[in-house]
Amino acid sequence: MRVALLSYHTSPLASLGSSAAGGMNVYVRRLAEGLAARGAEVDIYTRRDAPDTPPELEFTPGARCLTVRAGPARVLSKQCLAAHIPLFARSVVSLSSRLGLQYDVIHSHYWLSALAAEALKSGEQPLVHMFHTLNRIKQLYQPESAQSDPPARDYVEQRLLRSRHALVFSTEAEVDDVERVYGIRPANRAIIPPGVDRLRFRPGDRMPARIRLGLEHDRVVLFVGRMDRAKGVEHLLRATATIASELRSLKSAVVVVGGDDGQRDSVAHRELLRLERIVDDLRIRDLIDFRGVVPHEELPDYYAAADVCAVPSLYESFGMVAVEALACGRPVVAFRSRGLEQTVRDGVNGFLVPPSDVTAFGQSLLQVLSDPQTCARMERAAPQSVQDMSWETVADRTVALYESLCGLGQVAVGQR
Ligand code: UDP
Repeated sequence: MRVALLSYHTSPLASLGSSAAGGMNVYVRRLAEGLAARGAEVDIYTRRDAPDTPPELEFTPGARCLTVRAGPARVLSKQCLAAHIPLFARSVVSLSSRLGLQYDVIHSHYWLSALAAEALKSGEQPLVHMFHTLNRIKQLYQPESAQSDPPARDYVEQRLLRSRHALVFSTEAEVDDVERVYGIRPANRAIIPPGVDRLRFRPGDRMPARIRLGLEHDRVVLFVGRMDRAKGVEHLLRATATIASELRSLKSAVVVVGGDDGQRDSVAHRELLRLERIVDDLRIRDLIDFRGVVPHEELPDYYAAADVCAVPSLYESFGMVAVEALACGRPVVAFRSRGLEQTVRDGVNGFLVPPSDVTAFGQSLLQVLSDPQTCARMERAAPQSVQDMSWETVADRTVALYESLCGLGQVAVGQR
């Protein structure tokens, strides 16, 4: 089976943790690896966002990344990306025809990739789409951040929801939200929750990890994520300020992983500057340790070094950082949101806090940090709570979806 994965704005080869590269990059790469391991030939099409990106790279046997031109070779804002969608679609079609490629399945990721997927379709092959997030749902939980999206997004997403594409969602809760917000319950859908690399993300010893990372604190709160307003680091800083004196007496640090990846005019760079100002205004400079972008393979040390992982975003369609932290045996304190409710069990492997309540967020962090019994109990429960999640399962279920779509020759997935 030959599969095209369309990932216009996020390359599986990008370094994670800047404004644009995060969970979706991990998802697309791990999906491609899993499909290739099951015998598929996989091409990921993405936009060239740096001058030195190779046009073609086989990153695992059977899966390669094809990088095409669509606008300037640098990271672009969402508005600029939207303007270059037609160019990307044309580049994808012309490259695939130059290479003589025909695909059995075309699978697009995020609304920006959908047009290129449709352009690539040349016969009866099925189209599969995964939204990752939907604008109106994001707007519901996080009005500020959704305003930055171009108006075309809502149009494209509504069209996809009504189309004959097979739609992949992470959770049934996401489908419920779609029904509530758009008044549509897509029939051609599959529910495939993301996975976690259990070999990489597993419980590790705290002290050796702290020594390796140069963390000389008695307690560590960890944040990992893209430097984007939507990730809610500001809420974490404000929560920190509410418990600053307790954190100081516990000799604690709040470690923030994620950065601008050297791109000085990027969204991530601006967000970092904004956060630095908030840190100064709140007078918590001594408590906050900005670590910048950390390569994915080095993150297990950060989780091992932490006492608790903070997920302060108001909207997560899934939230892979929480799953990684739990797999590493670390409790998670998060605002209650659809995605996090799937993995964080309030009082069992962490705490779910009412959205935007930074005082409650601070108190929950403090409870984990200052009560060894709560912490130990949650650490024991954490890995177990995500034990069913793996990238192998994601690949198996996606292959089953593709096979059923190809077998029928048309989109008729029904409810899986
Ligand atoms: N990540 C990373 N290095 C960093 C920051 C983030 O490897 O410096 C990874 C993190 O491990 C996770 C992903 O980026 O796998 C973020 O995924 P999540 O679903 O939490 O957020 P999203 O980016 O999808 O909003």
